[in-house]
Amino acid sequence: QAKQLGRSNIQCYSPDMRVNAGKRLTLEGKLRHAAENNELVLHYQPKADLKTGRIVGVEALVRWQNPELGMVSPGVFIPIAEESGLIVPIGDWILRTACTQALAWQQAGFSIPVAVNLSAKQFQSPGIAARVRDTLNATGLDPHYLELELTESMSMGNPEKSIEIMQSFKALGITLTIDDFGTGYSNLSYLQRFPLDKLKLDQSFVRDMADSPEALAISQAVLGVAHSLRLKVVAEGVETAEQLQLLMDNHCDEMQGYYFSRPLPAEQCTQFLQQKQQLSLAPVSPSKVPT
Ligand code: C2E
Ligand code: MG
Ligand code: MG
Ligand code: MG
Repeated sequence: QAKQLGRSNIQCYSPDMRVNAGKRLTLEGKLRHAAENNELVLHYQPKADLKTGRIVGVEALVRWQNPELGMVSPGVFIPIAEESGLIVPIGDWILRTACTQALAWQQAGFSIPVAVNLSAKQFQSPGIAARVRDTLNATGLDPHYLELELTESMSMGNPEKSIEIMQSFKALGITLTIDDFGTGYSNLSYLQRFPLDKLKLDQSFVRDMADSPEALAISQAVLGVAHSLRLKVVAEGVETAEQLQLLMDNHCDEMQGYYFSRPLPAEQCTQFLQQKQQLSLAPVSPSKVPT
């Protein structure tokens, strides 16, 4: 029933649709009470290592199921949460929930890190590093099992301040990743100045790489730059065996996408971890056979 309701409403609040001012206010009003009404839930999308096929982590992706609105996509409500400032309490809830889940998985024998998306406003909010540290302390999660996904744009305004915040994350032992890499207007020099561990190759390049020589060339360039700076590359939005093969051929490190798994509710993700410890990699080219 709830599922049907959600499905029938998906169309109304997909990210592709422009949300007008009136609708935006309605959404904001309801979003204000979403966390306390238990309308927010995290789904987790597994990530696999492209050499071993093993699951090497999960990314937490927030979902909002409202009784009247149905399922609202994060592409729609995260920007509203950002503009209204609601992203700070919502972001704290997301972080706490993801850390608690990661610890539960560890205690169940699945030692995989959880990646949490940080939006620009959240990253820039006063005391963010201290709040992340407090959340780790409160939940008891080892910081090495937390990864934060940042976007290129969030650090443009004040690079010195951004470096300082990132360094305090690194000092705790947190892994830092740039999400959607290649879509921002970034100055590549920040790659050597920021204390980063990974880049996520944006799904637009992955989607086009099999058909567009340009998208493939950009993906290869990103992989080249990243590897020469000792950064790992995660491909996002992998949907086909052909894309997977191209990524393996080009020495991409990790992958995430519907080809492997959609984002799953925590319980289903636990089952996935139990059943599918390993991804069966697509036909491997001779040069790529693990030695
Ligand atoms: P993102 O962090 O780049 O997440 C990847 C998005 O691509 C997710 O959409 C995911 O469900 C989707 N995806 C994964 N694999 C595939 C695939 O193979 N094909 C296609 N077409 N899509 C795939 P989602 O969950 O709708 O999230 C959209 C964006 O909303 C995220 O992009 C992120 O920027 C933001 N977001 C989601 N959850 C959170 C959160 O907890 N906090 C913050 N600050 N932002 C979030
Ligand atoms: Mg992400
Ligand atoms: Mg992304
Ligand atoms: Mg993306």
